[in-house]
Amino acid sequence: MTEAFRLTGLVKQFKQVRAVDGVSLTVRRGEVVALLGPNGAGKSTTIDMLLGLTSPDEGSVRVFGGSPRAALDSGRLAAMVQNGFLLRDVTPGELVELHRSMFRNPLPAKEVYERAGIGEFAKRRCGKLSGGQLQRVRYALALTGDPELLLLDEPTAALDVDARREFWASMHEFTAAGRTVLFATHYLAEAEDYADRVVLMRHGKVVADGAVDEVRANVSGRVIRAVVQGTR
Ligand code: ADP
Ligand code: MG
Repeated sequence: MTEAFRLTGLVKQFKQVRAVDGVSLTVRRGEVVALLGPNGAGKSTTIDMLLGLTSPDEGSVRVFGGSPRAALDSGRLAAMVQNGFLLRDVTPGELVELHRSMFRNPLPAKEVYERAGIGEFAKRRCGKLSGGQLQRVRYALALTGDPELLLLDEPTAALDVDARREFWASMHEFTAAGRTVLFATHYLAEAEDYADRVVLMRHGKVVADGAVDEVRANVSGRVIRAVVQGTR
């Protein structure tokens, strides 16, 4: 099967807000997809439904042909959610060990450290780490089960320029091995630089989907500017 996941007619309503309004999206294995849109577009809610953290009011989610739960339990699916918190008094090394114990075939700790670049501060408490370092710890935890599909919700939102560049370099290692990534962003430049496909969301709907150039050709500059805030 070449499909990584398939969303069909997803709807999610929060009181008066229709956060996700009929989203259908199929992503094949090996694709690196940017979910691009302004704050409030419905990106996080879509990702939460892909993870089974939120259940849709309508529609269905299939990950590797099964449920999100099954994909998470087997380690094939992993994610970095927005604002995921880490306890101050534990160390990255302890967290990696805890995560490793949850999977049947986790990556060796050493490999997790190397891939995420956390070796230098693995024994320091999380409360003492910088934002960029904490983000690398979150990335390390997502890598522990050796996933085939990684969902990243605004992974660089809180990072400075250098930390951002480092983060995307680690990501590139992951995708170069043919794995699948969906990342949410409101930076057009990140979508252009790191994705081979862009899915543009606005008001809970997918308004464009294709290669960066196709999306640019089919959507007027005015709409793209309205949808995307900031550049880098
Ligand atoms: P994005 O990630 O693109 O910024 P979200 O999916 O977080 O968008 O939010 C989409 C819309 O749904 C927003 O209007 C947001 O305020 C609303 N929303 C999201 N989560 C909740 C919630 N738990 N309760 C109420 N409204 C929510
Ligand atoms: Mg969000």
